[in-house]
Parts: sequence; C-alpha cells; structure tokens
Amino acid sequence: MLRPLERPELIGIPGFDEHEVVLKIEDGNVGLRGFIALHNTNLGTAVGGTRMYPYASEREALEDVLRLSRVMTYKCAMVGVPHGGGKGVIIGDPATGKTEALLQAYARAVNELHGRFYTGEDVGLAEADVRLMLQHSPYFIGKPGLAGDPSPYAALSTFYAMQTIARLRFGSDDLRGRSVAIKGVGKVGSELARLLVEAGAKVAIADINPLAIKAVTDKFPAVKIVAPAAIHQETADLYAPCALSSEFTPTTMRAVRARVICGAANSQLADDSVGDWFWQESIAYVPDYVANAGGLINVVDELEEGGYQHRRVLERINQVRQTVADIFQLSAKRRESPHRVADLLAEHIFKNLPPTHIIA
Ligand code: NAD
Repeated sequence: MLRPLERPELIGIPGFDEHEVVLKIEDGNVGLRGFIALHNTNLGTAVGGTRMYPYASEREALEDVLRLSRVMTYKCAMVGVPHGGGKGVIIGDPATGKTEALLQAYARAVNELHGRFYTGEDVGLAEADVRLMLQHSPYFIGKPGLAGDPSPYAALSTFYAMQTIARLRFGSDDLRGRSVAIKGVGKVGSELARLLVEAGAKVAIADINPLAIKAVTDKFPAVKIVAPAAIHQETADLYAPCALSSEFTPTTMRAVRARVICGAANSQLADDSVGDWFWQESIAYVPDYVANAGGLINVVDELEEGGYQHRRVLERINQVRQTVADIFQLSAKRRESPHRVADLLAEHIFKNLPPTHIIA
C-alpha cells in the first residue's frame, strides 16, 4: 500500500527539501490515495497531523505534504520538543469521502512505518476520526481524554503571539479595542475569535462556509462578517489567516492593510520573498509555525516519558510569548525578516549548527 518515492522523482518539486522519506499511499479497494512525508528526524521521531482535502491533483497533494512536513521540523525545533517533521495528506473531500474503511486503511498505512511517524488530526479530520484510527494503530496522538483536539491550543498560542506582537508594535499587549480580521473560522479560527472577543477586541471574520460563520456569530453577534475575498484587505490592526496554505503571494501581499499579521494557518507565505516584502514595508509578520505551535505542543506531550501533563503543555505554550519577542529582537539586530530569523534559529537547533550561524 505504501510506495517510497525515489529522490529523482522528487527533485524539482516545490517543497522538496531533501526529505528523508516520502511515501505514496494507495488502496484502490477503499479509494484511499495520499502521501506521507518525513522531512528530518535529527531530533527524534517524526510527528505531524494528517490533512484530508480535495486536492485537484496528486501533484498538488505531494507539494502540500512536502511543504507541511518541512514546517513541522522547524516547529518542533523552535518549541524545543524532541521530534522531527512529518505530515500525511489524504486526497478527498472529507464531507463525502471520509468513510470508516478509508480511515482504517490509512491507519494501517501509518502502521507500516512502525512508529517512525506519529500523526493526528489536521484540516479535514476530527477527534472522532482519531478515535476510530486509534482502534487500528497505536501511532495516533491527540487521544480523546488525553491531549484531545489540538485546535484550542493552536488558537491559544496564536492569541499569546498576538498579545506579544501587539506589545512590540503598539506598546501594550492589551487587545481591548484592537481590531482583528480573521480569515477562516473553523476549529482554530473560531476559538481564536472567542479568545479575542473575550479580550475585548473588535473582531471581523470571513469563511467560505456559512455554517462556520453562523457558529461564531450565534455566540458573538457583535462580530462583523466580511466576504472571504476581501478579508485580507480589511482595515484592522491585526490580520489572522486561519484557513489554508499559501495565503500570501506576491499579488495578495500588496492588498493587506493590517500592520501586523499573526495567524494559525500553516505555510502562509507562498515564498520567502513575500516575508521579506512584509518586513521591508514594516508589516510585522509573526512566523506561522511559531504562532500556531500550541497544537503541536499539546499532542506531542502524549509522547513524553510519564505521559501527558496538561500543566506542562500550558507552560510550554506560554513560552511562545518569549519566542516571538526573541525573534523580533533578533530580526531588528540582524536587519532581516522575522520569518528568516525564525528559520535560522530552528535550523541552528535541528542541524546542530554552531552559534556563529545565528550571530554572524
Ligand atoms: P478547519 O478546516 O477546521 O478550518 C479552516 C476554515 O477555513 C474552514 O472553516 C474553511 O471553510 C475556511 N476556509 C477555507 N478556505 C477559505 C477561504 N478561501 N476563505 C475563507 N475561509 C476559508 O481547519 P483548522 O483545524 O481550523 O486549521 C486552520 C489552519 O490552521 C490550517 O492551515 C491548519 O493547518 C492550521 N493549524 C491547525 C491546527 C489544529 O490544531 N487544528 C494546528 C496548527 C495549525
């Protein structure tokens, strides 16, 4: 069911970064198609969620798994957990194609890696799916009753990152009265909206799914609704992308009105030049994998010796504040964009590079 892709098949594919293992998954009996990628395991076993999405092509799914698994390596290094980056993607519409047989087959595919990859929920999968797959594989994290759903924790770290960048940019971490535009109010975005409303922020939201919008506005009627195509142009203090990857391209970046970008979506920058442009324009972009690290911090705690400890999770998530402050301080010192500085810090850790790598 798993076929390793050889290096010549991967060279030139956007997102390929000398990944250690890339596997194609195929089980025609249940309509399962997808990929698992393990980027770098210098620090330990690969971890990363599994995304189910109606990719237009296998190539698109492959590019996504390569990009997302690489980010997981950087995220693990940055938050100081002894793991490497992995990711799984399943090609299909979760609303119609997520059958029990398909999930079982995916769990069996993960078993074939014999513990080199631990996975859990990402876009398109929910806690109930993890519960089902746990019946067929021990390699799923985010277990009900232990870490559970990672999304509230991803929202919490994003919220802390927002408070920190607000302090650095606006002089106070108090978000009361600050305007925040959120794109995507699914599992993470809706929780972020709640935290912001409760902190007194003025929140605007957009989502292509009217039910997701309704779930937020039913609870918080004062939240403003904006069209998905216009949310990044909303006049707001902070913009929080919480939908899918590659939010900012050399075209869309120019329309952003907020002076601060801090959201939970993974791989927001289509390429590095976009992050450089934000920095040149004095738009503070908080690196996505730093802001959303709470989800990872929560689920990997299940793999700690002695088992899951909620208190340790909350302490580690709190450290995201310091990480954001350190990145922006180093960015100013090096006169380099924060996303490049974050990468540098992470590489220093997982590639075990000498300190001169950062100071130079
Ligand atoms: P989700 O599927 O629950 O929510 C995503 C939302 O975005 C959906 O409501 C969807 O309708 C909406 N959306 C999609 N395209 C859109 C568009 N063009 N305009 C407006 N809305 C759009 O997913 P999630 O779990 O909330 O994750 C959101 C992002 O955060 C993803 O990039 C994910 O990788 C990242 N993330 C999630 C977690 C987690 O624990 N769930 C952790 C870290 C990072």
